[in-house]
Amino acid sequence: MNRLGAAARPFQTNDLAVLQRFARQAALALRNATLFGQAEQRRRAAQELARLARTLSDRLDPVALGAEIVQSFHSLFPELSCTIRLLRPDGALVVAASTDFEPGHVQVPGTGLTARVLAEGHAVWSLDRLGDPALVYDEELRRRVEDMGLRAGLVVPLRTERGILGVLQVSAHDAREFSAHEAELAQAYADQSALTLEGARLFEALQKSEARYRELFENSNDPMASATLDGFFTSVNRAMERLLGRSRQELVGRHYSTVVTAASVAYAEEHSRRALAGERPPLIWEAEFVHESGKTIAVECSTRFLRDQTRRHIGWEGVFRDVTARKEMEAALRQAKEAAESASRAKSSFLANMSHELRTPLNGILGYVQVLRRDGGLGAKQDAGLTVIEQSGEHLLGLIDEILDLAKIETGTIAIQPTTFDLRQLLEGIVETIRARAQGKGLRFVTEWPTDLPRAVRVDERRLRQVLMNLLDNAIKYTHQGTIAFTVERSGGRTRFVVEDTGIGIRPEDLADIFEAFRRVPEPRAFVEGAGLGLAISRALVALLGGTLEVASTPGEGSRFWFELDLPEGSPLGLDFAQPMRRIAGIRGGRRRVLIVDDKEDNRRLLCDLLEPLGFQVSEAPGAGDWLAEEGLARFDAILLDLRMPGLDGLEITRRIRALERERRVVIIAVSASAFEHHREQCLEAGTDDFIAKPFRLERLLDMLCRPLGLDLIYAEKGTATPPSDDAASGVEERLIPAPAELAHLLDLARRGDVKQVLEGAARLEGDPRLGPFTRELRRLAEQFQIRQLCQFLERAGER
Ligand code: ADP
Repeated sequence: MNRLGAAARPFQTNDLAVLQRFARQAALALRNATLFGQAEQRRRAAQELARLARTLSDRLDPVALGAEIVQSFHSLFPELSCTIRLLRPDGALVVAASTDFEPGHVQVPGTGLTARVLAEGHAVWSLDRLGDPALVYDEELRRRVEDMGLRAGLVVPLRTERGILGVLQVSAHDAREFSAHEAELAQAYADQSALTLEGARLFEALQKSEARYRELFENSNDPMASATLDGFFTSVNRAMERLLGRSRQELVGRHYSTVVTAASVAYAEEHSRRALAGERPPLIWEAEFVHESGKTIAVECSTRFLRDQTRRHIGWEGVFRDVTARKEMEAALRQAKEAAESASRAKSSFLANMSHELRTPLNGILGYVQVLRRDGGLGAKQDAGLTVIEQSGEHLLGLIDEILDLAKIETGTIAIQPTTFDLRQLLEGIVETIRARAQGKGLRFVTEWPTDLPRAVRVDERRLRQVLMNLLDNAIKYTHQGTIAFTVERSGGRTRFVVEDTGIGIRPEDLADIFEAFRRVPEPRAFVEGAGLGLAISRALVALLGGTLEVASTPGEGSRFWFELDLPEGSPLGLDFAQPMRRIAGIRGGRRRVLIVDDKEDNRRLLCDLLEPLGFQVSEAPGAGDWLAEEGLARFDAILLDLRMPGLDGLEITRRIRALERERRVVIIAVSASAFEHHREQCLEAGTDDFIAKPFRLERLLDMLCRPLGLDLIYAEKGTATPPSDDAASGVEERLIPAPAELAHLLDLARRGDVKQVLEGAARLEGDPRLGPFTRELRRLAEQFQIRQLCQFLERAGER
């Protein structure tokens, strides 16, 4: 049925044409209206985005930024809801701003459209998210989404260069597609968000680190400051304020030279000039700051240049450290050290002087004991008296030597002088002395050493003997009954020396003390003599010889002292044929002319009294004189020269003699009351043949004198009484020398410097035991390449 009734009529062609036109116009108008609407929307959107960008540039807080972005988007699309979520390090997405969710709402990782966005890295949309079987929702989110009626969803990642920062979620309340315009704008908003949020984040991080730096700067215990390139402070921290006693208001803007000494300013300028020139001045340097009170402060500085983005120098900053206390301590230490050194020098020179002063009279005492003994004819009482004088003198000398040794140890001037010697002979010599002392005290003395002890060893014999004698002396001193045992053991190339006693022993609490100088443990039963130096010296000597002196002791039972040394074996050929100190009965060989030079008459007298009876022709001089000329020197074979004399001293005289000499060389022996090794060295350097310290034993002096003169010593048989010296005095006994032809041959070889042939000659002569002393000296001089002395020795032998 037609509802138009009678009025109804069918459409005419015209009508249709009109209608069609109308419809076309309407369609056009509609399209135009849509296009206009879209253009209008785009214009608004463009305007809005521009406004947003401007607003955002003022905001740095991510939450406020997010709210601004969400609101802006919502103003363009009121029917759409919008949320910005930021990615937490654990992968959860937290709401920064939203039209629906509260800020801080957490979306569980792996859920919703977002999970796909994060997995695929690009925008994703869904017609109806809850109905989408490919999406996962946890209980809470599903409920919230359902309640809010969020159906269609478009999620765009917030991308930055460093990765995805979060997402922009857009939702519609119906199941629908999103227009290209919506999608485009969502993308534009996401890009804008990513950019500003990243900026905000970086700024926040920068602010945090800046704050941290500020805090460090402010709270550092080390003073810090920064300044412009031309030296005006731009910042100082609290520690710097404290250091200089000035507030930062006073300092900032002020030139650094107002708080630094002029010398330090000059150094600082030079330092920065070098740094700017690309050199590498010290990283840490010292300067002096001036405190508000005017006091100077020593400071350690570490500075560096500050640069801008174009790497142009714009200033410097520095960390400073107050080292005043350290400097003061160093200065005090230096002063103390200097004071100690000067005290030590004063002590050494005092000891050297004291030793000199004591040794000179001791030389007289001990020397005349020897002269009186040698003269003989004394009654038993006088002889006993002489023994007391001798022993007291020796004791005094021992004490002086100990004090000197200690001084040398303390000043580090002690020198170890290894010699090659017969170890067995040394031990036997020691045993002989100690056995007599032990027996005198009623003690048993036992010794033991392996049969294969090396004959020739190389070590400082004098010092080894000194240590052993000291340990054995102590053992006797501190033992009232029982046994003293002296053993030498060899194991693994080391030699162990042990001295054991059954004496009073040492309490454990005293063990450490006994090695200290002047430390003595009181012996309750009887006073025992001693200065408390022996062990201190022995310990130091053993250390110098390469060992450690050790002790074990039980009070009431006894003590054991021991040490181990490396005793390198020496060539038996190199053995120093030092004769044991035996009494000399006379001298074999020609009459020799000796000059004694000493400013003190007593000293000259003693030497004359010692030498004349032995057949020497002795002259005296109180110092340099006429004799110090070429012809004068020709009158003497040997000179005994005192070192300390007014006018020319012994060293200078020696140098002059050596300068005057041409062919012939006179034997010079320095006689000195100084016992310092460096004096011996000085003498040998100046040209003396030997050096003897006062007080000397006649035997030792004669040994030194006779050897280079080619004279032989005749020793008294052991146990014989002092022989009258007539025999020797007349010098009649003919010494045994090779035949003149042999001598001439050897002299010829020596003059040509043919040491090898001389040694072969010596080997030939060694077959004749009567030539022993001659051959030994011949070999010694040849082996030491002492060609000049060798020639003189052979010349003198030929003169006889
Ligand atoms: P001194 O014997 O001149 O006192 P030392 O330095 O030789 O000086 O010895 C220091 C101290 O060590 C002695 O005073 C003594 O108490 C103790 N001492 C040393 N050797 C022994 C020993 N064999 N037995 C007991 N005590 C000893």
